[in-house]
Amino acid sequence: MARPLTADIDLDALRHNYRLARDQAPHSRSVAVIKADAYGHGALRCARALEDLAPAFAVACLEEAETLREGGITAPIVLLEGIFEAAELERVEALGLWMAVHADWQLEALLAYRPARPIPVWVKVDSGMHRLGFPPERAEAVWERLAAAPAYACDLHLMSHFATADARGSGYFERQLGLLEALAERLGAPSCLANSPATLAWPASHGAWNRPGVMLYGSDPLEAANAASRRLAPVMTLRSAIIAVRELAEGEPVGYGGRWRAPRPSRIGVVACGYGDGYDRHALDGTPVLVAGRRTAIAGKVSMDMLTVDLTDMPEADIGSEVVLWGRAANGEVLSVDEVARHCDTISYTLLTGVLPRVPRRYHGASGTDPH
Ligand SMILES: *Cc1c(COP(=O)(O)O)cnc(C)c1O
Repeated sequence: MARPLTADIDLDALRHNYRLARDQAPHSRSVAVIKADAYGHGALRCARALEDLAPAFAVACLEEAETLREGGITAPIVLLEGIFEAAELERVEALGLWMAVHADWQLEALLAYRPARPIPVWVKVDSGMHRLGFPPERAEAVWERLAAAPAYACDLHLMSHFATADARGSGYFERQLGLLEALAERLGAPSCLANSPATLAWPASHGAWNRPGVMLYGSDPLEAANAASRRLAPVMTLRSAIIAVRELAEGEPVGYGGRWRAPRPSRIGVVACGYGDGYDRHALDGTPVLVAGRRTAIAGKVSMDMLTVDLTDMPEADIGSEVVLWGRAANGEVLSVDEVARHCDTISYTLLTGVLPRVPRRYHGASGTDPH
């Protein structure tokens, strides 16, 4: 038998989550963000599964867009950070891409370049994230220069990114949004502001376009779930099996450094999954795991190819029992990647993008999309 670890990708769940994003914002169009290989889910497979629903896709760089074009994706693709050097503009034009412009050198490169056909440009303004974008007081001047160039004037948008859309109470989100609303009004600009948490929780931020990302993969980006976010369905199930069982006397340690010690006579299951597959080595004892669809927990440090779980109260579990590290078990039980992330002192984004190539992806659902 082959090593039992797989990442099962449920493309019907992806479509369900996309529809949920779209239905939260009925007056916006939703760009499906599929950067970083669709957050580890496979960008081309995900794009094909969403092709009839999503009017556009977004990626971080030209190389990611090229992969999609080579795979036959014809929908608009937005480069969220624009170009990284002026020489990329030819490819942007040839591939029919849309792009953010966040810096003066990009603006000058665009204005110096004379495309034969228009390039839709999203002017990125730094409204408080303080990462990329023009300062708000410069936005008008940038906008006017692009609006005076025929190749760019016809399809200009205002873009910005929120730093705190996942939480309430600080007032910072409202400050960013207030600034952007005033700016959009002054410029008469259609906007694209909302990421996943803003799509789910801040309808006032919905613009001509929204940019949901992680929610498409079933992770709840909100600090406190709401009615919509509770309906998200997991897309990736990281699934393996018990490959060995150990009976331990009270006090016996498990794994490197003996971090976990049996507090009573214990039964330990060894799972074929480790940090060499992308499972987070920071997972603490107590990190939840589903064995045969029932919750139990990690006991002992994660090693490269294996991890260990407590089966003491699960006499029915044995070699070959299904183990779900996150996602949906065969019996329907769900373990959210967000919950696992909290036990690893990280976020779902790092766990999902961190699943390594050693783990075979298996695609399910979205009938009509060919197996690759
Ligand atoms: C990644 C990204 C998104 C999507 O963010 P999520 O939190 O995954 O929804 C949106 N906009 C920009 C600019 C991004 O880089």
